[in-house]
Amino acid sequence: MTEALLPDWMVSGNQFRYNPLTGEKVQVSTERLLRAWGGEVSAIPKEKIDEYVSDCPFCPGNKRKSGETAPTKLEEYPYAFANDTAALKPRNDGDALDGYSDPTGIYRAEPAYGTCEVIIHHPRHDLTLATIERAHAVKVFRLWAERYRELGAKPYINYVNIFENFLFGSSMRHPHNQLWASSAVSPIQEKILSNIAGYQKQYGKHLIQTIAEEEIKQEDRVVFQNDDFIGIVPFWAVWPFEMMIMPKTPKNSLLDLNERELEHFTEAYVTAIEKLNALFGGDCPYSAGLYQAPTDGGDYAGVMYLMFRPPVLRDIRTMKWMVGYELMAMSQRDLTPEAAAFLLRNPGGWEEFKEKFIHQ
Ligand SMILES: [Zn+2]
Repeated sequence: MTEALLPDWMVSGNQFRYNPLTGEKVQVSTERLLRAWGGEVSAIPKEKIDEYVSDCPFCPGNKRKSGETAPTKLEEYPYAFANDTAALKPRNDGDALDGYSDPTGIYRAEPAYGTCEVIIHHPRHDLTLATIERAHAVKVFRLWAERYRELGAKPYINYVNIFENFLFGSSMRHPHNQLWASSAVSPIQEKILSNIAGYQKQYGKHLIQTIAEEEIKQEDRVVFQNDDFIGIVPFWAVWPFEMMIMPKTPKNSLLDLNERELEHFTEAYVTAIEKLNALFGGDCPYSAGLYQAPTDGGDYAGVMYLMFRPPVLRDIRTMKWMVGYELMAMSQRDLTPEAAAFLLRNPGGWEEFKEKFIHQ
């Protein structure tokens, strides 16, 4: 390990860290992890999940709100459908096109169009992307690529965001994820693109590729890697066990991956889930989101990466809440990203972690 690269005060002391992708700061305050927790603790997760649940609309043979029936054969999975209660609707002829702006420049709006899809991974209710057969998981990500291509090709779709909420902000346990294709590029994505361009201008280098190369060199924040992808806890992570999965050579979207790379992407995604589950001794909740090039016809170079954001504070029953100072002023975390990566690599290493990474 190369912890010596960081000055002493950065190993366990309070500090602010800077995120070059979003331009934001995060406050790291390491003693806070030891504080007593009197807040909300969620229920103990169910040990045994049924393979089939009669009131799950995604289980084989069951009906959705729309009246459609979920397929029963494994070969019909994965599949995508427009969300029955979609947050965005497709643009039709005659729909409003012009934005609104009043003379003060304060009150501005534009009509929002798009499509929200649900992607169902597997007929079995109890499985996850980490437990379904690997070749089947690859099919899920191939479908992500196909939906990105098809929806992104529509002239009014400028941005496609694909994400998975697992036991976190998700109403269904059945293995699935969502995709929102929108007429507007997200503000977070806009900030990232602008910072990638700014870095290129200032340093003459590709920001994401440089991060991947530096992380491989520095090692401290690497959780896992394979030939084509690397999983790290970012230097500027906000959520305690946040992970970023980057291609080792820049890609714009899943469409840029060959078969081997798609398999390695799948392996990386599954490994991130397995690392979290090993550390927390059970199914860890997370929200994962894939950043890909906008589909607005712009010129992009290697902007793809994936974020894993588990909302856990210190165990799978104690959630992190973004409230107070964090909601109003600045994100804050209770352990250094190097410490989180250490724990993800060494799921039994809590004692060593306390000695090494907590400011005494
Ligand atoms: Zn189900």
